[in-house]
Amino acid sequence: MARIVFHVDLDSFYTAVEMREHPELRGKPVIVGADPNEGKGRGVVMASSYEARALGIKAGMPISLAWRKLPDAVYKRPNYDLYGTVSENVMNILREYAGKFEQASIDEAYLDVTAKTDWDHVREYAVAVKKAVREREGLTCSIGVAPNKSCAKIAAAQRKPDGLMVVWPQDVSRFLAPLSVNAISGVGEKTERVLADLGIRTVGELAAYPGTELTKVLGRNAVWLWGIARGLEELPVEERPDAKSISVERTFERDVDAWDAILETLDSVADNVHLRVRNANVTFRTVSIKIRFEGFQTHTRDRTLPTWTDDRDVLMNMSRELIAEFRDRGRPVRMIGVRVANLWRPKGKQASLPA
Ligand SMILES: [Mg+2]
Repeated sequence: MARIVFHVDLDSFYTAVEMREHPELRGKPVIVGADPNEGKGRGVVMASSYEARALGIKAGMPISLAWRKLPDAVYKRPNYDLYGTVSENVMNILREYAGKFEQASIDEAYLDVTAKTDWDHVREYAVAVKKAVREREGLTCSIGVAPNKSCAKIAAAQRKPDGLMVVWPQDVSRFLAPLSVNAISGVGEKTERVLADLGIRTVGELAAYPGTELTKVLGRNAVWLWGIARGLEELPVEERPDAKSISVERTFERDVDAWDAILETLDSVADNVHLRVRNANVTFRTVSIKIRFEGFQTHTRDRTLPTWTDDRDVLMNMSRELIAEFRDRGRPVRMIGVRVANLWRPKGKQASLPA
């Protein structure tokens, strides 16, 4: 039975987060990047909203050029702390739906959901993922569903924004064949030119080209490229195991002063951290909490245990103990976070996400 792989890609992530934080920006051309400085700014556009894209503004464009084209757009400096926090929150939601999970970038992830659903229910499952991200983080995403990662990624790009495309196992070749070779992630202008010289413009032409001839021109790159074109790529979805710590933060939409509500959120944040600990099959020794009051005054507290554990109750109780001293500050809370560090994967304990 074919694997079921989702590629989830948040739509215009940086500008969507800016619009979520500043609803008055909705529907406007928003450009995140360097300071345009009245057209004299250096640096580039990092991201542009769909409204700005429709008016010709693209990521990578010099900010001075963007200013000349669209001086009335809303220009924002990137808020990396915010994007990082929102990204973590979204990734934690996606992890709940994944059998195996792999974050591919700040706004993209692969989910192997073979153990979670089947091909007959895959569309409903993807709709549920989209709904969870929209309701819990206020963002839209596009999802491509396919039997492998490369095809899922290509499918997700076909229906942006807020799209969903399912490529059934028997349809992979038919779906890929008419697409331009640059639909394959990793095929840049240079490879595109090399392929064009061979008369290859579409993925179908690439798939039909003799593999040995392709290797003569592209070397080792030919192997993966040809595999993708033929729908044969089988790279596993796997969590990157190199994390030094695992942390989750949550920012309140409005500053909160009810301590019960803060503890409730703390529990859910700690629960999210625990889910990730279990997914990565690691144990931890250090637990820390972070609390930010209105006005951005931020405090952290941590404690290191005598031994490693992956116990949920230990994490929850310790988080509550560490935050207790802030209870009577009488100041509204803006954000709280929980982090575990000092990670260790015990020998003989296989990762739940094998290579
Ligand atoms: Mg994206």
